[in-house]
Amino acid sequence: MSPTTMNHQKSTELFARAKKVIPGGVSSPVRAFNAVGGHPPVLESASGSRTRDVDGNEYLDFVCSWGPLILGHSHPAIAAAVNDALTRGTTFGAPCQSELELAERVTSMYPGLEMVRFVSSGTEATMSAIRLARGVTGRDYFVKFAGCYHGHSDHLLVSAGSGLVTFGEPASAGVPAAFAEKTLVLPLDDIAALEALFQERGHEIAAIIVEPLPANNGLLKQTPEFLAAVRRVTKEAGSLLIYDEVINGFRLAPGGAAELYGIEPDLATFGKVIGGGLPVGAFGGKREYMQQLAPLGPVYQAGTLSGNPLAMAAGIAAVDTLIAEDAWTKLEELGVYLESLVAPILASRKWSLVRQGSIFWMSLQEGPAPRSAEAIDPKAAEHYGHIFQAMFDAGISIAPSAYEVGFLSLAHTHADIDRFASVLKEALA
Ligand code: PMP
Repeated sequence: MSPTTMNHQKSTELFARAKKVIPGGVSSPVRAFNAVGGHPPVLESASGSRTRDVDGNEYLDFVCSWGPLILGHSHPAIAAAVNDALTRGTTFGAPCQSELELAERVTSMYPGLEMVRFVSSGTEATMSAIRLARGVTGRDYFVKFAGCYHGHSDHLLVSAGSGLVTFGEPASAGVPAAFAEKTLVLPLDDIAALEALFQERGHEIAAIIVEPLPANNGLLKQTPEFLAAVRRVTKEAGSLLIYDEVINGFRLAPGGAAELYGIEPDLATFGKVIGGGLPVGAFGGKREYMQQLAPLGPVYQAGTLSGNPLAMAAGIAAVDTLIAEDAWTKLEELGVYLESLVAPILASRKWSLVRQGSIFWMSLQEGPAPRSAEAIDPKAAEHYGHIFQAMFDAGISIAPSAYEVGFLSLAHTHADIDRFASVLKEALA
């Protein structure tokens, strides 16, 4: 649809109403469009690769609810599984067969994973994994990498101070400096800084948490050498390695980034795909560590809606459909197609497309694609607003932030990707 045919009257009215009772009108900040201007359409329904707003406008969607919708919107297998579960109850607060069945699938698919515990969000998963690592090792410090997002718990909402290895500084008001200090922040892609920190302080460090393919600040592909060094230093220091697979997991490969890169972490966190679009997170790892969790061990963790039967049913349907459809082969093929069309368009500006499987990001700067937060040119984001607006006006939904990645799903077709490429080309002409 062209800008002239798109009417946003109902969205505008509803969003104005929402702003009176919901901060910023949204339940999660990036949805507010602050980084790109304007206000978001209020969505009413979605199916396959399309979303529809309350004014009847349709969008070809490459946000995919920020990652969970690897099968596309309203997949029939997920709808059927959730409907069926619904006839038997919405929550039990007691063991149910579906949580066991999803746990069996997750542990059998993910390398080295022996036990898993379900939670309701990625934030809970990473927060709990950090607590477990601290409990297991008896150490307080842990390491994250600058620019990486692992949810919004206090000790993870921390950014780098100045200098190469820094004590974390609160990245939000309300995070006590004393909490942030326990989080050490390193640059990605810097083996020397990593080794130097572990040489000096490895014995104090409970864990490193890292997305093996960092996908929350652009798509910052790491080298195999860096990932191997992260595994090596943690092993040598008796620290745990936590792979945050909330985005990577079950998307990059059946066994997530661990399988893709051939490296087993000690603990891993999941979300998004394994909930089939319902609120789910999980964390898991070796039995010796997971048995430290309550009720078996001293590390406390709990949740009223954890292992929720609707979410478990959706997760099982998602995983089973991915396997039945050989999704990873198909998604790679779609990704290759997208890259073949989009990379040359970006290259005409000396920019690049960064892609791994069905995750992609447009790096709007010259030179090699960045591998760390420090290597991202802050000026690159200035180009994004125009691209976003041109896409939006043409009925294509991409993330309302230059630093968020795009997702392909099994519902996307070559024609959808053709459309993405042609609108992008026009926007850059
Ligand atoms: N870890 C990673 C890698 C994520 O991408 C996200 C969310 N984008 C989270 C953790 C937090 O998950 P949630 O939003 O479900 O709390």
